[in-house]
Amino acid sequence: MSSYIKDLIAEVKAKNPAEPEFHQAVEEVAESLSLVFEKHPEYRAAKILERIIEPERVITFRVPWVDEQGEVNINKGYRIEMNSAIGPYKGGLRFHPSVNLGILKFLAFEQVFKNSLTTLPMGGGKGGSDFDPKGKSDLKIMRFCQAFMSELYRHIGPNTDVPAGDIGVGGREIGYLFGQYKKLRNEFTGVLTGKGLNWGGSLIRPEATGYGAVYFAAEMLGTRKETLEGKVCLVSGSGNVAQYTVEKLIFLGAKVVTLSDSNGYIYDEEGINNEKLEFVMELKNVRRGRIKEYVEKYKNAIYTQIDPKADSNPLWNHKAQCAFPSATQNEINGKDAQNLIKNGVYVVSEGANMPTTLDGVKIFLDKKILYGPGKAANAGGVAVSGLEMTQNSMRLPWNREEVDSRLQMIMKDIHSTCVHMADRFGTPGNYVNGANIGGFLKVADAMMDQGVV
Ligand code: NAP
Repeated sequence: MSSYIKDLIAEVKAKNPAEPEFHQAVEEVAESLSLVFEKHPEYRAAKILERIIEPERVITFRVPWVDEQGEVNINKGYRIEMNSAIGPYKGGLRFHPSVNLGILKFLAFEQVFKNSLTTLPMGGGKGGSDFDPKGKSDLKIMRFCQAFMSELYRHIGPNTDVPAGDIGVGGREIGYLFGQYKKLRNEFTGVLTGKGLNWGGSLIRPEATGYGAVYFAAEMLGTRKETLEGKVCLVSGSGNVAQYTVEKLIFLGAKVVTLSDSNGYIYDEEGINNEKLEFVMELKNVRRGRIKEYVEKYKNAIYTQIDPKADSNPLWNHKAQCAFPSATQNEINGKDAQNLIKNGVYVVSEGANMPTTLDGVKIFLDKKILYGPGKAANAGGVAVSGLEMTQNSMRLPWNREEVDSRLQMIMKDIHSTCVHMADRFGTPGNYVNGANIGGFLKVADAMMDQGVV
């Protein structure tokens, strides 16, 4: 690592204390970009990376709301407007008790590069709250969403900042948020994506992140003249991304043997078929139950509780060829990465954002497996959000085939950008460098054109 990059990382840590996830995301990108700065000192002279690291604007606010028992609750609300060099800020809202400034800054930082890779004109942002929707009534969720939007509405707009969903924010929450925005602004505009189909949403948006991660894995396998057919796959999570990853894997003839939530995971050696997936979707999206219930219905499957203090996650310790981490950040550590390799996994396509720790990433790169980092592999979600914005602007919806074929084309383009950039900067097969450099160059050139702002 060059002394410039070392000093830069040290400064980021000193200036942004207690934000370990943000430090981790910056470190990974900065290491890749040292290859660019050697050839292009002009970016370094213009302090482009230093400027990308500092959010254009950070909004934090109080979210007070009253529940059905009349109790007053207070949550923290955030929106990080990270970079608008190539388009309006764009990125999801996360509602989860672990949410804090550092986590949202890491997500917003990653989003800048991811959105750039999609080829669509979108800047990067992220937001959310430490509110925990798990187990809460619809009324509580609605009241919270309305209180959250009562402040957020003044900072966003279809040409300024267009939020979407993320962990804990699905169709139900986007509905309540949109309703409140519309009431406050007296405007029906495409200010959020992930909307319902009959009020401005796009077909394939719910499926897009999961489908995209599978299309990306298929592209990576294609470089070795292989397909997903017959491959055994480990999937973590059981939310939006995990569900549609499994749907597409089943469609392409792969066998998925795991799913999880924050309490534990199921292992189904026979494979999760369409009927079992339908059960999971009803369990998670309608009844809002726990994945443990899977083994009460499908007796041959095994449930294992997760021990958060253990040094590794047993989900990643099964024989397989492919892994699709689709739950949350840092769910694969160095030991998990070693276990995956030991069990025969040579394709990792990240549906979640930054699910692998830096030492895990190093192991994947050293072993030269087909490793697709989140900012490339899970960009399908924001890509179809971009397509939803296009349809809203045209006031014309596209059909399923049209959106899906555009999604496939975008994932193919992202894959070839990664391959091309990794080759051009002397690290063939390294999708981490390819994604970081490909995402960076477009934003950096736009920033150079627009002056110091
Ligand atoms: P989701 O529908 O809320 O599902 C999240 C899943 O991950 C749930 O099964 C949840 O289990 C599990 N999970 C959450 N936090 C966890 C933790 N600390 N430990 C273990 N499991 C945990 O969210 P999602 O939209 O699928 O998002 C999953 C990941 O994909 C996130 O990293 C997100 O940033 C990323 N992503 C999402 C999109 C998108 O379009 N939705 C796009 C790009 C990237 P519980 O039910 O127990 O909480």
